[in-house]
Amino acid sequence: MKFGTKVIHSGLKTDPSTGSIITPIYQTSTYVQEKPGENKGFEYSRTSNPTRTALEDSISSIECGRYSICYASGMGACDAIVKLLKPGDKIISNNDVYGGTYRMFEQVFKNFNIDFEYTDLTNAENLDEIICINTKMIWIESPSNPLLNIIDIKKIKSKIEGTEILLVVDNTFATPALQNPLNLGADIVIHSATKYIGGHSDIILGALITNTKTIYEQLFLITKSCGAVPGPMDCFLALRGIKTLDIRVKKHCENAKAINDFLSTRKEIKEIFWPGRSEHKNHKIAKKQMKDFGGMISFNLINDNFSDAVSIITNTKYFKLAESLGGVESLISHPASMTHASIPKEERDKKNLKDSLIRLSVGIEDQSDLINDLKNALDMLH
Ligand SMILES: *Cc1c(COP(=O)(O)O)cnc(C)c1O
Repeated sequence: MKFGTKVIHSGLKTDPSTGSIITPIYQTSTYVQEKPGENKGFEYSRTSNPTRTALEDSISSIECGRYSICYASGMGACDAIVKLLKPGDKIISNNDVYGGTYRMFEQVFKNFNIDFEYTDLTNAENLDEIICINTKMIWIESPSNPLLNIIDIKKIKSKIEGTEILLVVDNTFATPALQNPLNLGADIVIHSATKYIGGHSDIILGALITNTKTIYEQLFLITKSCGAVPGPMDCFLALRGIKTLDIRVKKHCENAKAINDFLSTRKEIKEIFWPGRSEHKNHKIAKKQMKDFGGMISFNLINDNFSDAVSIITNTKYFKLAESLGGVESLISHPASMTHASIPKEERDKKNLKDSLIRLSVGIEDQSDLINDLKNALDMLH
């Protein structure tokens, strides 16, 4: 089955009691048993719920995996994965990992004696120096936020082939429409389904996917024990969102390309970060690894200052000033004062997170309206 059909048909099971084509919202905590232990596959909704099961089937299918578990948030999925480890174990991650993941690593799991080390994994050779006997997981994001760096997933896998080190890939930015990390060697894939999978900025939800039965069984135990499960209403909305994932992502990519072309003509702009640009430092691997280049694009200004950036982000009409990404509506944000404000300026400069850096989550509105919106905001600088 091709992706465009999977998004419609996976997890679509006719309801046996009514014939309803859409999986109902099973708003129930428990299930009546004929005799103790004799049930129709469901006992208690922390363990499983039919609406959630339908979503998990759908997410497994679109991510080319055998097993999936859904969570109350993307961070809920991340939390469950770290709980596979023991005190003394170490995770190596890319140095531009999502801020919320970094905070969970540093401020929660360090207290449980899990160790973390960060490096530039766009160069896989950097792993050689820091992998040690305690390394149990490599945790990567590609594309990364907000500079859209691309990590060669196959190459990272080749470094740990034959070991027991697990490769975890956060595929939130790429979406299953553009990249399936399990096919590139990942052991576990994570999604913040809050973003593109949900696609309508109306839910907080997470998911993980794996092909390995033993990993799935451990994660299932962790999940039903720790309990970060999503409610059936949110699962229903995610299932509904997935149906248009294929066409949405196509339009996100198309619009991002048009905006890249427009921004390239503007003299106020210094650098544009979008993996589809031939001058992007990881363009070659992006072209090989991804089906298209995605809807996230960042840029900084020749006049690198806060006030020009703030002028732009407050003068757009359709690009709404907000955190998050991946919804049908376009968003604009300023990492230095928003998502990355907690990083000291000196550290930000080292990471090329300039004061004027602006990040766009390009939506699926009409292309010319989006371009005019950015044009007006840029013109107002003069
Ligand atoms: C948003 C995000 C998360 C966290 O997901 P929530 O649904 O907000 O908990 C994790 N990873 C990436 C890359 C994200 O963008």
